[in-house]
Amino acid sequence: MSYLKQTDPQLYEILTREEQREDSTLELIASENFVSYSVLETAGGVMTNKYAEGYPGKRYYGGCEHVDEAEDLARDRAKELFSAEYANVQPHSGSQANMAALMTFVNVGDTIMGLDLAHGGHLTHGSPVNFSGRLYNVISYQVDKETGRVNFDNLLKLAKEHKPKLIICGGSAYPRFIEFEQFREVADSVGAFLMADIAHPSGLVAAGIHPSPMPYCDVVTTTTHKTLRGPRGGMIMMGKDSENPWGKVAPKSGRVKNISELIDSMVMPGIQGGPLMHIIAAKAVAFGEALKPEFKDYAKSIVQNAKTMAEEFLSLDYQVISGGTDTHVMLIDLTNKDITGKAAEKALEKAGITVNKNMVPFDQRSPFITSGIRIGTPAVTTRGMGTDEMKLITKLINDVITDHENETVLANVKSAVTELCGKFPLYDELKH
Ligand SMILES: *Cc1c(COP(=O)(O)O)cnc(C)c1O
Repeated sequence: MSYLKQTDPQLYEILTREEQREDSTLELIASENFVSYSVLETAGGVMTNKYAEGYPGKRYYGGCEHVDEAEDLARDRAKELFSAEYANVQPHSGSQANMAALMTFVNVGDTIMGLDLAHGGHLTHGSPVNFSGRLYNVISYQVDKETGRVNFDNLLKLAKEHKPKLIICGGSAYPRFIEFEQFREVADSVGAFLMADIAHPSGLVAAGIHPSPMPYCDVVTTTTHKTLRGPRGGMIMMGKDSENPWGKVAPKSGRVKNISELIDSMVMPGIQGGPLMHIIAAKAVAFGEALKPEFKDYAKSIVQNAKTMAEEFLSLDYQVISGGTDTHVMLIDLTNKDITGKAAEKALEKAGITVNKNMVPFDQRSPFITSGIRIGTPAVTTRGMGTDEMKLITKLINDVITDHENETVLANVKSAVTELCGKFPLYDELKH
């Protein structure tokens, strides 16, 4: 970083402040993580210079021999990691992955189903403000008020009534295992495709801790930067490729035999241009890390840490949606604590703890205020924190929430946070 310091001190200062923020605060946003230094280095490497529209061996540009090797490695490792027959590692983000998958499997105007955003779904699962809600006729399903889990009776009833062409399972604030098998039954009963979006738990799936969608779903999308701990990006996979059932043609290459070819051509040229080769190379590095036995231990610790926190919160009379978690994420309804999600997020931020406000199922408040917060353990687990630290963090969060307007309390928590973070330093490699 010393080079930037000389050439652009202004941005260098900004970057340094962000480095310090990441190092000295507790990151509990469930969708965030810290990549390894190897991933960081690759993401900042020379492949950012290369145009490589197309796919390995079939590019529109010359000079692609090395980026081809990187992309092949990323695809091969992804396939091994998830037991998938097909992987496309080019989507720039999880949203792009969903867009390409949806546009491959359904036509504009078709009916799709996804989990309600307010019940833990994602914008790209049919929110009216997103492309998904604008291009498709969306029927949202919800979770059960008592259990906080997907209400399959309701899902089946809605599916029979509306005959969706495709059902999306998965979400952004769903603390339980995604019930792929039950979703498959519903999809089969109405002849719908089943798409799994495992953006959140994909690292846990890779580690074999969360059930795999591959045997049940027609197509699987994910981000690479959440529990999977790679660079920011997306990916599309299929457990098994199959013959193009629609006789559809690809935008450029004409007739195609398999769905995999349709997905490839929907990603590029369908919705994207040149792939981010530095990011694809960094994906390969992250997948390589996830294939190592240590990653399984890491993923286990993420879940153990989340379970510990959920139990601590329950013992302090917090309403943990669904009564706990199977994964890295928990959703807490703060209604009985007399504080909104927005106020909690703000007070915690002042105390050096980063979480996000989140709608809870059947929330009476708007998405800008909300009644809850979402908490996740991937990032703190990456730093090496374990059971004792989770108990301490829960106590600190409770201190803030019970007395959120007391500046002395916030300052005391902040100094405890700084001390804790100091014991688990981030990116020693950057400190020279
Ligand atoms: C995070 C997330 C995405 C989108 O990822 P971006 O990279 O932010 O576009 C898609 N689906 C789900 C379920 C997510 O949680």
